Amino acid sequence: MIARTHDLASFTALSAVFFLTVPNGLTLSTVIVALIANIIGGITPDIDQPTAPFWRNLPIGKYFGRAFGMLTGGHRFLTHSFIGVAIAAFLVWNFLRFLSPIIPTVDIFIVWISFLIGVLSHLFMDMFTKEGVPLLLPIPIKFGFPPLKRLRITTGKKLEMYIVIPLLIALNVYLYLLFYGDVVTFLHSIKL
Ligand SMILES: [Zn+2]
Repeated sequence: MIARTHDLASFTALSAVFFLTVPNGLTLSTVIVALIANIIGGITPDIDQPTAPFWRNLPIGKYFGRAFGMLTGGHRFLTHSFIGVAIAAFLVWNFLRFLSPIIPTVDIFIVWISFLIGVLSHLFMDMFTKEGVPLLLPIPIKFGFPPLKRLRITTGKKLEMYIVIPLLIALNVYLYLLFYGDVVTFLHSIKL
């Protein structure tokens, strides 16, 4: 899946959890940082790819990306497994705890959860691609849906561009219209 699809999927997953839990009384800074963390989480598993947007935006990112890819076993390996998610969860939680004294108005737990929702949505979306994902590493099986590879999506091709992306957008529009009342209540409850 391309980065735009992952951004959208992360946001959709975050919205779904939001509508299930309808949190209230969050600070504005928590909401903003959580949204950014969610999008970052959604593309994080692809840091094992030298061409990942994550690395492309750094001047010598290509080389770091390549080195990082080798360290994590190449594309769609460690970062696309539950062990990888657990390592990322641990590192990001400690990073947020380290930052928390300088960002006292940010609820780091909400930010952390939003990041993880992004990461998990990435693995979920990649399951629909031909390559599949090695969720249960070190067990070297790549999982995909549907199980028949032929029926899965090729990254960046028409099916992703003209079906998956519009479907995700439609799902968001549908969710926000359906739970419009909750959105208004939530927005009113935001503290500065
Ligand atoms: Zn991926």
